[in-house]
Amino acid sequence: ALEVHGVHKWYGAHRVLDGIDLTVRPGEVTVILGPSGSGKSTLLRVINHLEKPEIGHVSVGGELIGVKRHGDRLKELSERAILAQRGRIGFVFQNFNLFPHLTVLDNVAAAPVATGRLTKAAAVALARELLDRVGLGDKAGAYPRQLSGGQQQRVAIARALALRPGIILFDEPTSALDPELVGEVLAVITDLATSGTTLVIVTHEIGFAREVADRVVFIDGGRIVEQGPPGQVLDHPRHQRTRDFLGKVL
Ligand code: ATP
Ligand code: MG
Repeated sequence: ALEVHGVHKWYGAHRVLDGIDLTVRPGEVTVILGPSGSGKSTLLRVINHLEKPEIGHVSVGGELIGVKRHGDRLKELSERAILAQRGRIGFVFQNFNLFPHLTVLDNVAAAPVATGRLTKAAAVALARELLDRVGLGDKAGAYPRQLSGGQQQRVAIARALALRPGIILFDEPTSALDPELVGEVLAVITDLATSGTTLVIVTHEIGFAREVADRVVFIDGGRIVEQGPPGQVLDHPRHQRTRDFLGKVL
């Protein structure tokens, strides 16, 4: 399971995360909703230790992320250990972040080779398999600039899968796409969801959330306002702030 324990994150006087507790069980799909500036991206970045919380900690499968216990305090892990942990937590960004100078195939094959997990040949074979899975088997030799946004995002998903992560975090994976390209990316994420991959997805796609989420978490002002099955949070929200938000995005 992914466990977020009492996480506070602040920048100066600005409390961006104000006591977040969250558990995501293996195979579960959690969708995070909330207004702009509510702390959604920061929460994903804390999970991956791209940001360090001022208070609290994160663990995946019982292992602390980014830190180790040192007496009754937490001490930062080495950069190398943090990178190894990050390899087990996939991250898909809003703007794809592919390597522009590498082909699609090499974008997907690069990390398993760089981290010493696979030989070049094995990584290329895996990359071909993953590109087939996201429907891009015929684009292996293309460069990112030659692809549509939806295709680039599917490459980014294949790249995240190449490290065989136990969990994948998505930060608004479709919000940079033209509307007609959103569906193809959501279809790939739905395929991952139904095949039992643990996913945490920040998105404003409410219909998608209703379809794939086991749980929807609504965040406002750096706090979890409410959470529960989609039928509850989306259709029968208990809090006025959730109702106001859903009224704007639906
Ligand atoms: P959006 O829906 O617009 O992506 P979000 O919920 O993802 O919003 P965050 O990006 O997590 O929100 O940001 C939460 C708050 O933290 C914002 O007010 C933002 O300005 C602030 N913030 C984020 N990163 C930093 C930083 N590095 N330094 C200072 N403030 C930051
Ligand atoms: Mg964000």
